[in-house]
Amino acid sequence: MQKSLKKTYKFALKTSFYVTLFTTLLVSVFLYYYHTFNWQIILFPILCYPLCFVIIQYRVERFIYRRVKKIYDELTLLESTDLREQPITTDMGTLTKEIDKYARNKKIEIETLKIREEYRKEFIGNVSHELKTPLFTVQGYIDTIKDGNVKDEKIRKKYLNRASKGVERLTYIIKDLDMITKLEVGDLSLNKEEFDIVKLVQNVFELFEMKAAKKNITLTFDMDYPDPIMVYADMERIQQVLTNLIVNSIKYGREKGTTEVSIENLIKNKAIIRITDNGEGISTDNIPRLFERFYRVDKSGSRKEGGSGLGLSIVKHIIEAHKEKVYVESQLGVGSEFSFTLEKAK
Ligand code: ADP
Repeated sequence: MQKSLKKTYKFALKTSFYVTLFTTLLVSVFLYYYHTFNWQIILFPILCYPLCFVIIQYRVERFIYRRVKKIYDELTLLESTDLREQPITTDMGTLTKEIDKYARNKKIEIETLKIREEYRKEFIGNVSHELKTPLFTVQGYIDTIKDGNVKDEKIRKKYLNRASKGVERLTYIIKDLDMITKLEVGDLSLNKEEFDIVKLVQNVFELFEMKAAKKNITLTFDMDYPDPIMVYADMERIQQVLTNLIVNSIKYGREKGTTEVSIENLIKNKAIIRITDNGEGISTDNIPRLFERFYRVDKSGSRKEGGSGLGLSIVKHIIEAHKEKVYVESQLGVGSEFSFTLEKAK
């Protein structure tokens, strides 16, 4: 690839100046010593300086510039876009700075790759661990039935139901994984529109009425919202956020408890949506890690309420993609409040 060469003459100019100065001085001393000193010596630097300049510049171009160009070519081979676009500089100061910048960028790049590699390994480890448990459960029940050892019809049905639950669990783990992968690679483009957040909360209440009723949990607003509250966001994603938070409030809520949603004006163009429950609550030391992928407070395999451990992580991703904030306040044994902000429609 042919590259433009940005020449500098500073080096040749300075060096010629020093060479001329010293040779003039030397010749003057020499002539003086042999008593032949003459003011015509003034012609010497006038001739010497341009001559030196031409020779030095020529030599520098042939010798140093070629090497510098080779360095650039080699760096370009390493795919440095920063270096490729600029003309080649032969000014050593700039060159050193550029190489330094290049090295620093490469270091950052390598570190990012290392972090990503760590993340990938951890992710795969987590995924296989999460899939293993329900998969083995399903396999266990099916094998038992297949072997024909269970004669009782009722028990067979019970086992099949458990296997079916396991498959259900596998399905929602895969669904959550699919969503989180899309969110984490930034593949998920937001489809923002204006919609009524009160109505959306009501829809989610209706969807989970049955689930809440099983634990006698009441799903309610903190007050009447007779007028629509219009927000500007991706409705489908916000429905997902509300679903995850409301389902959690039921899962970790206590029998005959309450899940309450409130919508308030935060600042001029923001609304804050709070989902409060009076369930089991979360201890202070668990709160900072709550939004991490696969993080669960109850790590024992005997959890009553098994989720994928991705629910809150998905919530965080969606809210951050909207450039909004999500908060949590909780007290063990008292209850939890999850809240997030949204932009109000103009
Ligand atoms: P999971 O699939 O386990 O529910 P989440 O990411 O949704 O995963 O939640 C992570 C953990 O946070 C849960 O395992 C639970 O211990 C805790 N948690 C989430 N919401 C609540 C809540 N409303 N009350 C108490 N604990 C909660």
